[in-house]
Amino acid sequence: MPGKRSIDRRTLLLRSGLAVTAMGTALAAVPAQASATDSRRVEAPHIYDTGNWQARPPREPITLLNHPPTYIVVHHTVEPGNTDDYSLDRAFAISRSIQNFHMDSNGWIDTGQQFTISRGGYITEGRHRSLEALTGGTQHVLGANVANHNSEVIGIENEGLYMEVDVPQTLWDSLVSLVAYIASQYNISPEMIRGHRDFNSTACPGDVLYARLPELRQAVADRLGVSFREPGSTPLLRPGDRSEDVLLAQRRLRAHGYDVPAHGVFDQATREAVAAFAASNGLAQPTCQACAHTEERGYLGRDVWELLTPR
Ligand SMILES: [Zn+2]
Repeated sequence: MPGKRSIDRRTLLLRSGLAVTAMGTALAAVPAQASATDSRRVEAPHIYDTGNWQARPPREPITLLNHPPTYIVVHHTVEPGNTDDYSLDRAFAISRSIQNFHMDSNGWIDTGQQFTISRGGYITEGRHRSLEALTGGTQHVLGANVANHNSEVIGIENEGLYMEVDVPQTLWDSLVSLVAYIASQYNISPEMIRGHRDFNSTACPGDVLYARLPELRQAVADRLGVSFREPGSTPLLRPGDRSEDVLLAQRRLRAHGYDVPAHGVFDQATREAVAAFAASNGLAQPTCQACAHTEERGYLGRDVWELLTPR
């Protein structure tokens, strides 16, 4: 029962004193799907299927879940260089490249995410059958892009690295169209449009793109003709950060037996303690294209906050 678990976590977080700093309401909110029931139908954007980009067949049969996803999750691929090749050929090439990486290096059965958007704004199907499931609107494909939450999410990989620069307008326009269509097909409230970092301790989908998620939610709400409540967010702490949240985390780590200083600076000792704490609690590395390219072990995000909270 995800709902009950969420409420319990929220209660724990509130008791913990994280209410203002690290609380957020990101995953604690009750899915507000009711607000989308009277929404306008959104027309499908053009989506190139796995046949179009000549995908390899999946290694095992694809799993179709008999329920809609709860969350629509935005990622970035951390492709180096942020290419100015906006062609369809490029969109197909990155789709193949991601699939090869996920199957050959990660050992997955197929591409991890359900959809991909190139910098040129071309939308491609990622994991096989994702388009068929989305068109039907009652099932969704089990992917691999948000550790510990894959049965709840439908993930979109956006080509590029968006830590410091913004997405191209072509990509943004397609992202709005695709997310609005997914929300329409599955009756998902804009409130449930999230970034990867709302679940795992990762910088994905980049500081700049993450900061635009409120704008994305509003744009989708406008397409659907619905209102929604803006979700809260949890701070993502990274090496070098100095803040009250870091100090709070260090105190919590000390309470869990880790010998870290309590000076509010996210130093190497803190990073190692966070990584050890996450590993000892069975937190998998965040799984998405971005995380495969970056060393984010030791980041402190929502999943770690929840475990650090005294019970
Ligand atoms: Zn991601």
